[in-house]
Amino acid sequence: MVIIMQPNASAQDIKEVIKVIEENGLEAKVMEGRQQRIVGVIGDKTRLASVPLEAMHGVEQTVAISKSYKLASREFHPQPSIVDVDGVKIGGDEPIIMAGPCAVESREQLFEAADIVKAGGAQFLRGGAYKPRTSPYSFQGLEEKGLEYLAEARERTGLKVVTEVTVVEAVERVAYYADMLQVGARNMQNFGLLKAVGRAGKPVLLKRGLAATLNEWLNAAEYIMNEGNPNVVLCERGIRTYETYTRNTLDLSAVPAVKHLSHLPIIVDPSHGTGKWRMVKPMALAAITAGADGLMMEVHPNPARALSDGPQSLTPEHYQDIMTSIHKLSKFMKDEHIQSIDLTD
Ligand code: PEP
Ligand code: MN
Repeated sequence: MVIIMQPNASAQDIKEVIKVIEENGLEAKVMEGRQQRIVGVIGDKTRLASVPLEAMHGVEQTVAISKSYKLASREFHPQPSIVDVDGVKIGGDEPIIMAGPCAVESREQLFEAADIVKAGGAQFLRGGAYKPRTSPYSFQGLEEKGLEYLAEARERTGLKVVTEVTVVEAVERVAYYADMLQVGARNMQNFGLLKAVGRAGKPVLLKRGLAATLNEWLNAAEYIMNEGNPNVVLCERGIRTYETYTRNTLDLSAVPAVKHLSHLPIIVDPSHGTGKWRMVKPMALAAITAGADGLMMEVHPNPARALSDGPQSLTPEHYQDIMTSIHKLSKFMKDEHIQSIDLTD
C-alpha cells in the first residue's frame, strides 16, 4: 500500500503517518516527489485494515498495491488449484458437469432427472432442497426430505451431490447429505454463512453475486478459505445489467479474468446466466472455449411442469445434445492443444 500525502502536508503530518505504520509493526518508506510525498507501507497491510489513514491530517489517498484477498489470489499461489470432491477433480483436464433440476420436487422427479443426468455423462447431480425464491409464496423446497432424496439418488447413480445451503442453521444438515455445498448468488456476501461453510469440512461452490465485482467475489471466497477450507470453486452465473431480454447477463469474460487473478477453479452456469433454455447450448460451448473448468446446467424431465425455472431448464433431449457437443469440443481442444488461457504469465 502507498499513502499519497497532500501537496501541503507538513513534516509533522508525515511523522504521524509513519508513527501509525510503525505502531502496527510495519515499515514506512518516504518517497519524495516533485510536488507530493508518498509513504510506502512494507509488510502485511491487513494490520492497517481498521486504521482510518485517509482521515489523518495531510493524507490525500491510500492506494492498495497488493490484493485484499490473499488465500484466493494467484500472487500467493501461482499454480492453479484442483478441488477434489470425493474423487472428482475440478480444475483438471476434463470439464466437470453439474446438472439436474432447479429444485428437488419429489423422489420420482429427482430419480428421473438423476438417471438422465448420469446417462449424459455429468459427474454431479444438482438440485435445490432449500430454494432462495424471490417471492415467499413460491415453492420453497422440500428441505431435509429433499436432501434425503439427493443422497438416495447418489446411491443409485454414483453421481456426486451439490446442493444449496441458504442459512447458517442448515449448514451442518446439508453438509451431512451433500458432497459439495453451494452458496447461491443472493448469499455471496452473507459473511456469517461464508464463515459457516468454511468450517463445514466440505468443498464449496460459490456463485457470483447478482451485482458483485470480481474483487468482491474473490473476497467472499477468501472468507471461506480463511476458516481453513481451501476447497472453493467459483461459479459465474450472470450479473444484473440494463438488459432485460435475458434473465441476467452472462459475463464470460469473468473466466479469463478470474484465472488471472486467482488459482481457484471456475465453472459457468448458462441456465441462470441467460434464463432461456435456447441460449444454454451456445453459452455452454462458449464457456468451455473461454477456459471454464466446468458447467452447471438445469435439466428437468418435463420443464413445462417444473415448480421453478422451467423456462431455462433443458429437456432430456436437449441436455443429451449439449453433452455430446461438449464432449466433442473438449476432445477437439485437447487433441489440438488449444488452451484458451495461458497461466504462465
Ligand atoms: C441455483 O443454482 O439453484 C440458484 C438459485 O442459482 P443462483 O444462486 O445463481 O441464482
Ligand atoms: Mn434455478
